[in-house]
Amino acid sequence: MTGSLPHYPLTIAGEAYAGQSRYEVVAPADGRTIATVAMAGRAEIDLAVTNAAERFRGYLWRTMRPHDRANMLVRLATRIREEAGDLAALESRNAGKPIRAARAEVEAAARCFEYYAGAVGTFHGQSLLPAARGYGAVYHPPIGVCGMIVPWNFPLLITAWKCAPALAMGNTVVVKPAEATPLTALRLAELALEAGFPEGVLTIVPGLGDQAGQALVEHPLVRKISFTGSTATGKRIARTAAETLKKVSLELGGKSAALIFADTDLDTCVDSTLWSVFDNSGQDCCSRSRILVERGLYNEFLARFATAANRLKLGLPSEEDTDLGPLITPAHRARVLGFITQAQDQGATLVQGGDMPGDEPLADGNYLFPAIFIDAQPNHRIMQEEVFGPVACILPFDSEEEALTIANDTAYGLSGSIWTRDINRVQRLVHGLAAGCLSVNSNSSVHQEMPFGGVKQSGYGHELGPDALRAYCETKSVFYSEG
Ligand code: NDP
Repeated sequence: MTGSLPHYPLTIAGEAYAGQSRYEVVAPADGRTIATVAMAGRAEIDLAVTNAAERFRGYLWRTMRPHDRANMLVRLATRIREEAGDLAALESRNAGKPIRAARAEVEAAARCFEYYAGAVGTFHGQSLLPAARGYGAVYHPPIGVCGMIVPWNFPLLITAWKCAPALAMGNTVVVKPAEATPLTALRLAELALEAGFPEGVLTIVPGLGDQAGQALVEHPLVRKISFTGSTATGKRIARTAAETLKKVSLELGGKSAALIFADTDLDTCVDSTLWSVFDNSGQDCCSRSRILVERGLYNEFLARFATAANRLKLGLPSEEDTDLGPLITPAHRARVLGFITQAQDQGATLVQGGDMPGDEPLADGNYLFPAIFIDAQPNHRIMQEEVFGPVACILPFDSEEEALTIANDTAYGLSGSIWTRDINRVQRLVHGLAAGCLSVNSNSSVHQEMPFGGVKQSGYGHELGPDALRAYCETKSVFYSEG
């Protein structure tokens, strides 16, 4: 039953292509097909990349005055805002996001294009004085074709994080969105054309990861890959990209901890920590899924956290008062349920949640009530691996050293939170925690203006902040002889 559904062809250099086949995009909230999308295979990836490389070589984009490129980014931000209602509704339907969250992400995507329109004007090289008679100049030209591989948890926003700095620097871009959530990225490419971007500067190629994604990573004309997703796929991408010596940035999984001390402001902390693990139904690489609480505060924190979790409304993404939507696919929910079962088998206690709603209308979607575990041990799988679902583990600790040891005892190192009024303790923990981005008396560690990236198995390279521009340029050093 796809006859009356919207169909998205592949659009490459202004031409529509059928692709190697078409596939159905399904709404996580009710399992219904909402669109069909043409799927890129190796041939279509080659076409998109070859075209993007021609556009790059053809000067039109990269030698345009940065000011003019920046104006286009601003116009794109304006078009995003003009279409914000429709974009948010599309993202909410496609990714199962509560509509309030989808609106906030659309606005953040618009701000991201504005931010890099401004930041690129302050980006500069260097002038140096070598020992020889003459002058040294360091330039930062764009790299060329950048391949962006985007996950399904923040489809439009992560597309913006990658494309805005790359385009501002004068690169051309080919984006492979997640198979499950291509719709807002496809709409973004249309808005870019309306904002005046030349054809072929920003191309979206939906397809399967191990086909279209793999072909993009292998393509010799792609000079940079920026990837967000699982650590396993990130490692594979790094290995494949090494064959053609591409630059690679990897924003991978996380298993972040919140460290909560007895002197914290409990009201603020409980509310914030609740959202830090359950927002986006836990499908967030920065999710604080390990909540470590100083023993003196533990019982009170647990009671208040559990009460607050009970008040969260699991609901249809389109409803204004919905707090948690469905998980992305039935397979992903099954994977999360597998973690929950195994945690119990290993001796952790499920305090509440972790079950699926049985009544309409939620019974048709991939919903899961937020789960709270106690008694999990630091070495349990649920404390070590990224669950990517609404599952919190709450543990007591007796000393700062113990909290630090547990927090650092994972393969990952993306985010983390420190909750205390003791500034000396904050300083010790900021330096002791092995994580790329931390927050103090807050769980908010991702900000447009600040670099975002991880250490250890959470990847390398940074998005956001002024330095993201450096991820999309080369360094060219020139000596000018004096005579
Ligand atoms: P993946 O890492 O497999 O997918 C992320 C993106 O990579 C998707 O666009 C995917 O395409 C693409 N991809 C997959 N294989 C390849 C490949 N060989 N070459 C190039 N691109 C590829 O994650 P999943 O969606 O399978 O999710 C699995 C787990 O990953 C989650 O449970 C979560 O733990 C973690 N994850 C972390 C994210 C983060 O924000 N850091 C985001 C998403 C997932 P396609 O969709 O077609 O498979």
